[in-house]
Amino acid sequence: MAEPEREQRPLLEVEQSVTSIPEDHEATCWGCGLRLVFAGYSPIYKCGWCGAITQSNQTTRKPDSVWFSHWRRVRDRFFVTVLILFMLFVICGGVWAVYPIVFKISNFCGIFHCMVTAVLAVFTITSYCLASSKSAGAPTNVRWGSYPLVGKRDLENYTFCTYCNKPKPPRAHHCRSCKMCVVDMDHHCPFIGNCVGASNHQVFVIFLISVVISCSYAAGMTIYASYQIWPSVDFPNLASSRDSMSFWKIWLEIITTVAGSAFFLSARGLVLVYLAFASLSVNAGIGVLLCQQLSYIYEGNTYLNHLSSPNALHGERGLHNIIRFFGCPYPISRVLLRYSNAGKLQDNSGSKLL
Ligand SMILES: [Zn+2]
Ligand SMILES: [Zn+2]
Ligand SMILES: [Zn+2]
Repeated sequence: MAEPEREQRPLLEVEQSVTSIPEDHEATCWGCGLRLVFAGYSPIYKCGWCGAITQSNQTTRKPDSVWFSHWRRVRDRFFVTVLILFMLFVICGGVWAVYPIVFKISNFCGIFHCMVTAVLAVFTITSYCLASSKSAGAPTNVRWGSYPLVGKRDLENYTFCTYCNKPKPPRAHHCRSCKMCVVDMDHHCPFIGNCVGASNHQVFVIFLISVVISCSYAAGMTIYASYQIWPSVDFPNLASSRDSMSFWKIWLEIITTVAGSAFFLSARGLVLVYLAFASLSVNAGIGVLLCQQLSYIYEGNTYLNHLSSPNALHGERGLHNIIRFFGCPYPISRVLLRYSNAGKLQDNSGSKLL
């Protein structure tokens, strides 16, 4: 009775040791076509020859439905049309409402502001057209698919776009609205009807800067012109019982009296009030977007990369990223870089002392 028990024990030990040995997994690199063997299963692996990254479950995606593509195209065209009409309204409405008042001051004042308006309008519209029409940055064609064609490290950190069925460079993303991969894609902007990527990012930021400057100028001019033509306002309640009124009641009295007097404004006055509010609102929104863009450029990052890995370091942050982005002339960039490096040296020396 004891002998069978002695025979079963070694068998159990053998079974346990067999299950603990990892199985080899085989996969094919999409970049060079070589078969790769791994000690264990991994959902993502990198080829040791070409450097391409493969996901084990990647399959070709179905193209987007006709309705999806149509909806995106209609949405982009709607936003582009609204933005162009708004820009034309601000320029034409502003000139019609403001310039009779400015020319009343003096002819020189009127001609000077006409020239400023023309420069800002041309700059804003030109940068908008360039950001909208320029290709955002398609990846360059690379050889891929079979070992003799693809050299060592030719596809370093490339992934495979399952929409385009083509290699996708690092930091590139596929845009389903533009139906292409975009190098250094920041985001798809429906207001320009285009992606913001490596090729048009600079002109897009210049457009944002010109919008902020133009809207600040428009807000200043319309507020000044509104003040000049506003009907005279009396505050009878405020004059008689000012001492007995609280701070908030005084403000409420001022606001309601001024708002009531707006009913006596001419058509020109109403356009001025609308333009002042619209310029201030657009300025606030675009100002926030511009600050966000400049902070990502300072960090050497893009909006999409920030979303996908918010805490990852994508490069060295610093002023040199902004200088390189705008392509400043050599003497200016050298002075600014020296200033930036001096700041860094001071920071480092401070940290060593601590
Ligand atoms: Zn490979
Ligand atoms: Zn793609
Ligand atoms: Zn796009």
